[in-house]
Amino acid sequence: MSDKRGLLLREKKSAYEVLSEHEWENILDYSKGYMAFLDAGKTERECVCEIEKLAQSHGFSCWDRTRDKAVPGGAFYTQKHGKAIMLAVPGCRPISQGVRMVASHIDSPRIDLKPYPLYEKDGFAIFKTHYYGGIKKYQWMATPLSLHGAVYLKNGDLKEVSIGGNPGDPVLFISDVLPHLAKNQSDKTVGKAFSGENLNATAGARPDQDQGDDRIKLRVLDILHERYGMTENDFQSAELCLCPANKARDVGLDRSMIGAYGQDDRACAYAALKAILEVKNPEYTTACIMADKEEIGSEGITGMQSGFFDAVLRDMCSEQGVSLYECYENSFCLSGDVCNAFDPNFADVSDPQNNARAGFGPGVFKATGHRGKSGASDASGQTMSRLRQLLDDAGVPWQMGEMGKVDQGGGGTVAKYIANRGIEVVDIGVPVISMHSTFEVTAKIDCYFTYKAFLAQFMSGNS
Ligand code: MN
Ligand code: MN
Repeated sequence: MSDKRGLLLREKKSAYEVLSEHEWENILDYSKGYMAFLDAGKTERECVCEIEKLAQSHGFSCWDRTRDKAVPGGAFYTQKHGKAIMLAVPGCRPISQGVRMVASHIDSPRIDLKPYPLYEKDGFAIFKTHYYGGIKKYQWMATPLSLHGAVYLKNGDLKEVSIGGNPGDPVLFISDVLPHLAKNQSDKTVGKAFSGENLNATAGARPDQDQGDDRIKLRVLDILHERYGMTENDFQSAELCLCPANKARDVGLDRSMIGAYGQDDRACAYAALKAILEVKNPEYTTACIMADKEEIGSEGITGMQSGFFDAVLRDMCSEQGVSLYECYENSFCLSGDVCNAFDPNFADVSDPQNNARAGFGPGVFKATGHRGKSGASDASGQTMSRLRQLLDDAGVPWQMGEMGKVDQGGGGTVAKYIANRGIEVVDIGVPVISMHSTFEVTAKIDCYFTYKAFLAQFMSGNS
């Protein structure tokens, strides 16, 4: 390449091309841990449990705001309602100089049970459902589904529910009509052919020995009662959902990819977790935020719009007599969320020049949103310059992207809710094929370098 070309043109190298020989082994090691995490955490609740376990085994302690001080040398975590969690490692510098954060989310699209879910009809016990997040409904039909969640009995006792994830467990399913009789269905557009109200999940077919009506339903309730001590009324204080039962799998004959449910956004949550677990004596205070409810707009007391995360950081600031806003003004956050990977099967929805590609490292999104960037926090040039420096100095291969062609659709992340707090923020995450499906696919190399990017963020300022 001539000097002029070297100077002026952007190099378009994939992450594989800059990878050193021995690093592929590290990528495989990393992927094993990530895939185990995906299998253990199908819901935000299960993720919080898993994250707590991993944090404890790395010396993080559960933070009690009335007792504990956030001092250098410590490392702590704190969670909200078992559905959102934050890890922090206090830095040597005063917190007025800001926090280095990564924020991701641990909820994923799924099928929730309705408040009065169970009924019996035509020889089956069936759960009525209400989907959560943006799904293509037909992808959830005729596929094994596992039952997850929590039942709070009236006395407040918690029963954790998980059926279908272990080999030998039974699964549930939502039926689809056979192609032989699908004339009416196939005459409709995809949007009209599958209704949310019809996503009913079959839970049983064998009558109880008791006499009377609804004996199939009764047997299902009997099983739940035996296992969790719950009755039909306890659905009122339950949070139960159906997730794809399948486990994470190596994809491709070369095993270069991972296929699994819930990689949006556990690909980034796990990367941030792995990174912060490695942080020791950082210059700046570091925080890893894993929020719930992103898929429905970051609402609720466990979502990114809630005061949970601010309350923790405010406590840390007040120990040093610093205002929260001063800390936020000097903070920098990577909003770790997955992006769409260019899909050669659906090339027409993307601008090939500006779509992130699998195998090219984490995708950086200056803006997300819809139409004319509506709903985006749209990071400034200053922020982008800062990020380029951070990633290039750390030797992390990365790329920029936009979600599809202009006016084709769009999406959002937690970034704007972080920006609303006055924190400098930009989106960066793993490119995903078939996002929001029951089988999302990522490149192992991108998952790994997303972790490296987050590690660079947490360790920035360290010599
Ligand atoms: Mn996401
Ligand atoms: Mn999503």
